[in-house]
Amino acid sequence: MNIKEYIKPSHIDEAYELCSKGAVAIGGGAFLHLGKQVIGQAIDLSGLGLDYINESDSHVEIGAMTTLRDIETSSIMKQNFKGVLPKTAASIMGIQVRNVATIGGAIYGKYGFSDIITTLLALDAQVELYLGGCMGLDHYLNSSIDKDIILKILIKKNISSAVFACEKKTHTDFSILNMAAALVEGQLRLCVGARPGRAKLSKGAMYFLKPIGSAAAAGETLSILVAEELQFGSDIRGSAEYRRELCKAMVKKCVMEVLQ
Ligand SMILES: Cc1cc2nc3c(=O)[nH]c(=O)nc-3n(C[C@H](O)[C@H](O)[C@H](O)COP(=O)(O)OP(=O)(O)OC[C@H]3O[C@@H](n4cnc5c(N)ncnc54)[C@H](O)[C@@H]3O)c2cc1C
Repeated sequence: MNIKEYIKPSHIDEAYELCSKGAVAIGGGAFLHLGKQVIGQAIDLSGLGLDYINESDSHVEIGAMTTLRDIETSSIMKQNFKGVLPKTAASIMGIQVRNVATIGGAIYGKYGFSDIITTLLALDAQVELYLGGCMGLDHYLNSSIDKDIILKILIKKNISSAVFACEKKTHTDFSILNMAAALVEGQLRLCVGARPGRAKLSKGAMYFLKPIGSAAAAGETLSILVAEELQFGSDIRGSAEYRRELCKAMVKKCVMEVLQ
C-alpha cells in the first residue's frame, strides 16, 4: 500500500466528509497493507474513540476500531454469548495480526474467508454506519453501501447458546470452512462461511428445528438440509464436494453442541 496523503481526524464528521469524497478509511491497516494499491488520501480512524466494548442490560456494543485481540481478551465478551466471539477471534492467524486487525475492517471487507462475520451473522448482530444508520449485518452484507464509516456493532442479549467451529490446514491459514450456530430467542441461526464464498445463513435451518425431537436427530436432518441449501466452491484449500461433506459433519457437531 502506498499512501499519498495521510490524515488523522479527531472528529467523525470530518472523517466521514473525507470518506464520502473517496478517501480510504484505515482501520487496523492489516489487510490494506497486503495490497499494492496507491491510496490518494488515507483517513486514519484511530483518533475517533471507536475502540471500546460496552455492555448494557440489553446489548453489548463493540466499537468498529476494536481489535480482534481486544475481543479475544475482553471479560465482557467472555461472559456473553457463551464466549463465542473470543473463541472465534482466537482462531484467526497469530496475535500480531489480531493486535492490529479491527472488527470494523473485518465487516467492511465482506471477506469470504472471514471467521468473525460467520459468528456475528449467527448472533444476529447489527451494524451502525455514520450515514446508513443501524441495520442487520445480513442486510449490510447484501447491500452495496460504500463510502460510509462503520461506527459500531451491536449484539442483543437474547442468545441462550452459541458455538463456532472452523477447519484449517494450519492455525495461521484461512479456513477451509467455518460455521457458527446460535439459539436466538429459541430460534436456531446456523451460518456457514469460507464456502469459499462469504458467510451465509441457512434459512432452512431457521424454520426447521421445532418439529424435531433429540439434538442428534436434529443434527442428522439439518446436516443434509444445510449442505443441500448452500453453495460451495473449489479453490486451493479444497473442492466443492469436500466442503459439502465437511459441512455435513460440522453441522452435526455444531447442532449437538448448541442444543446441549
Ligand atoms: C495475513 C492476514 C491473515 C488473515 N487471516 C484471517 C483469517 O484466517 N480469518 C479471518 O476472519 N480474518 C483474517 N484476516 C482478516 C482480518 O481479520 C481483518 O478482517 C482484516 O485485516 C481487516 O481488518 P483491518 O482492521 O486490518 O482493516 P483495513 O486493512 O484497515 O481495512 C480493510 C477494508 O475495510 C475498510 N475499513 C476499515 N475500517 C473501516 C470502518 N470502520 N468503516 C468503513 N470502512 C472501514 C478499509 O477502507 C478497507 O477497505 C487476516 C488478515 C491478514 C492481514
